[in-house]
Amino acid sequence: MSWEKNIRKVVPYIPGEQPDFENMIKLNTNENPYPPAPGVKRVMDEFPPDKLRLYPSVDGGELSRVLAERYGRSVKETFVGVGSDDVLAVAFLTCFDSEKPILFPDITYSFYDVWADLYRIPYERIPLDDSFRIRKEDYVRENGGIVIANPNAPTSVAMGLSDIEYIVANNPESIVIIDEAYVDFGGESAIALLDRYDNLIVVQTFSKARSMAGMRIGYAFACEKLIEAMNDVKFSINSYTMNQTSLFYGVEAVKDEEYFRTNLEKVIKTRENTVAELDKLGFSTLPSSTNFIFTTHESIPASRIFEELRKSNIFVRHFNKKRIDNYLRVTIGTDEQMKVFIQKVTEIVKSK
Ligand SMILES: *Cc1c(COP(=O)(O)O)cnc(C)c1O
Repeated sequence: MSWEKNIRKVVPYIPGEQPDFENMIKLNTNENPYPPAPGVKRVMDEFPPDKLRLYPSVDGGELSRVLAERYGRSVKETFVGVGSDDVLAVAFLTCFDSEKPILFPDITYSFYDVWADLYRIPYERIPLDDSFRIRKEDYVRENGGIVIANPNAPTSVAMGLSDIEYIVANNPESIVIIDEAYVDFGGESAIALLDRYDNLIVVQTFSKARSMAGMRIGYAFACEKLIEAMNDVKFSINSYTMNQTSLFYGVEAVKDEEYFRTNLEKVIKTRENTVAELDKLGFSTLPSSTNFIFTTHESIPASRIFEELRKSNIFVRHFNKKRIDNYLRVTIGTDEQMKVFIQKVTEIVKSK
């Protein structure tokens, strides 16, 4: 077609599939197996339809206020978006406008290189070490910005806060984005560093720890000046990104701290039990600080286990990528789901 040369060509991010079978066990996209806080259901019945006539507040309104309060920041240091994917995309577009390459690990959230390509940001992938850890020293070199998922995905491995601080402190001319999608399951949040560093953005989400992937809510904290810059970019694309219902329901999820803690503890306990069971079956699992595990078997190829599980309607994630193609990423489900998962894996291992 003659117009083709004018079209922006991108290789898109490939999300985990969303199969929809009865009796399936879905452990492939790191959703939370438990429902959102009970308050969310309560306000679903109370949502005034008349609210839908009006455009939502552009700054997240009450949701920004409760988030700021919960995390000890001010509203002007708070940004909300349509899932953290939206927040991260705006942060990339706002903060990575240098000729120098941005840095991120070779094995990490596979959206980072997609945004970089889309926005024409040069980038360099820094290899994780042999135990899939980030070496902080590797991030002290010329760069146009840094993005690190902590805990990292799909490895599940967390980096200590002092190592994060080392990277932030040694890059005063770059913006460092820390993507904390999984931090509540065992990581240490870099929000604690925000008082001391103005080159840091911490991004979190309602999708994992708050059981609301379907609602699409993400948020970020940074110094006022950075949040202002991100809002300028956001308002240049679409001012009203947050719909009235997510603002309304999101507030309730933040308010219920006790439910949040209980939910996290359940997932963590199930994770530890699952790892112990997999150990007995000849798997090695990386130390997880997330709601998923990254595991490999001593003799059976990951691709085969993946296919066998799939035949039984148990969905996990397998990445056909260098260095990690013999690993499976398994989301932690309920105890009952993980029991069925372990039973099936036991059959696969015994029948080899
Ligand atoms: C799940 C995930 C996100 C995005 O989640 P949203 O649903 O868009 O909030 C971002 N980063 C990482 C590393 C993730 O795993």
